[in-house]
This record gives sequence, structure tokens and C-alpha cells, in this order.
Amino acid sequence: TANPTASPSANPSARQMGAELVQLSGIRKVYNAGQPNEIEVLHGLDLRIRQGEFAALIGPSGSGKSTLLNVLGLLERASAGEYVLAGKAVSALDDDGLTRLRRDTLGFVFQFHHLLPAFSAEENVTMPARVRDGVVTPQARARARELLDAVGLAHAMDRTPAQLSGGMQQRVAIARALMLQPALVLADEPTGNLDTASSNEVFGLMRRIHDEVGTSFLVVTHDPRLAARCDRVIELVDGHIDRDGPISASTSMPSSPPSLPPSLPPS
Ligand code: ADP
Ligand code: MG
Repeated sequence: TANPTASPSANPSARQMGAELVQLSGIRKVYNAGQPNEIEVLHGLDLRIRQGEFAALIGPSGSGKSTLLNVLGLLERASAGEYVLAGKAVSALDDDGLTRLRRDTLGFVFQFHHLLPAFSAEENVTMPARVRDGVVTPQARARARELLDAVGLAHAMDRTPAQLSGGMQQRVAIARALMLQPALVLADEPTGNLDTASSNEVFGLMRRIHDEVGTSFLVVTHDPRLAARCDRVIELVDGHIDRDGPISASTSMPSSPPSLPPSLPPS
């Protein structure tokens, strides 16, 4: 059967396994430039992410992880340095160009789900298509339903966020992040607000989407057990990349521990 999360990308070249997706060189981020409270948060970062990677971003609180994700996510512009995303030089784009590139390339999952409280799970998942197209086409609705099915929420499509558990809310947020077929999902502490069981389930879902569809993930986490289940761990300390590489064999754990079902999370 067809994989519901898979479909042709708006940017086929960026989907090619191993293609360069993110290239950061010398990225600096300064807040409150020229003011007494000026602060440089990122001190000249170099980072490359290839299509198909599943990477963790770790580091102490205040080390700049969210700032880096905001720059990567085109939510904030770097103060200096070069950023090439899916082959496009970000500094050359105007705000409309940034919005388009963000929409065509990236998906976001945050610590707090940021679902719209007055809308059903299905309406929340179709929202990116509604914003892009002005309407929800039958195709968009069908895709949203397939995605909710794939994240184990076929029975909860009509519920509002308040009628869902924290783990279910994050699964809706993941389905929404996948709606427009991103090449890269940026997840900022997506399990930070969940108990251990829900956290394992949400993380396992992202891992499964990666393994089945090839979507790249960069996941900020404080949980060393989750970082150990990523293929690559990037550690940020005080605005520098302190460590970057595959996790060592001694700390490594299988990417699908026996406690996780190999198929969809139970509903
Ligand atoms: P992390 O996500 O690793 O905890 P952040 O990227 O949120 O770190 O923050 C890194 C540093 O940047 C902190 O010192 C924080 O206070 C500062 N910072 C973040 N956002 C802003 C902002 N909009 N204005 C000023 N300082 C900020
Ligand atoms: Mg943060």
C-alpha cells in the first residue's frame, strides 16, 4: 500500500537522499545590536545537514539552540554569515521569498503544540494548505486524514486540542508539520512537556517518519536517551558547536528499542 506520508516534493532535488539541504557558514546572531543590552548568541557557526539525516541538537539552557533553530527556520535572519537552504541563498531573498522557501521546505514542531484551540485536529492539519492556497481542497483534506491516520489519530480527527492528551496534541502537530511535504522538520524540544511514555511515543513517531519517508529531522532535546537514538548529535555550548558527530558505540542504543511497536502507535 502507498505510504500516506510520502508524496512528490515541491523540490525534488532537495529530496534526493544525501543532497545538501542546509549549509551554514560563519553564522552569527546578535540581539539588540548597538544597544547597551547587545548580546551575541551565535558566534560564527558552520553546519551542514544533508537530506535524510536524523540529528539531535543538545546543549545547556541558554546555549542558543532555539536561536539556531529560528535562524534555520527562516524565522529570524542571521546577523552575519551565509545560509544556503535547499540550494537557495537566504540572504538574497526578500520576506516573501523567505515565506515561500519556509513553506516549501520546512516543517516545525514546538514544545507547546501551538494548535489552534477552536479548530479540530483535521482542521489544524489542513491549516498550512489553507494558508497557502486560500481554500482547503479535497486533496488537502484527504492528505490530512491520511496523516492523522498515520500518526494513530484516525479516531480523533474531529476533536479539538483541549480534547486530546499532550502526546496526542504533539502527534497532531507532527501531522501538521508534514502537511506540505517538508524536506526538513525542525523540532524544538517536542517532547519537553511530555511524560516519559508519551515522549518515547512522539519521538518514535518522528523516527519512523524519517525511516519510512526520508524526511530530515533536527530535534532539540534535553533527554540523553532520546539523543542516543539519533544518528548524529550536535552539541551547542555558549553559541559554539562543541561537538558534532555520530554518537559513540558505548552510549548508543538501538533506534527502535523493543518497547516501541514497529508499526503505528496504538490508538
Ligand atoms: P536555548 O534554546 O539553548 O535555551 P536560546 O536560543 O533560547 O537558548 O537563548 C540563547 C541566549 O539568547 C539566551 O541568553 C537568551 O536570553 C538570548 N536571547 C534569545 N532570544 C532573545 C531575544 N529575542 N532578545 C534578546 N536575547 C535573546
Ligand atoms: Mg530553547
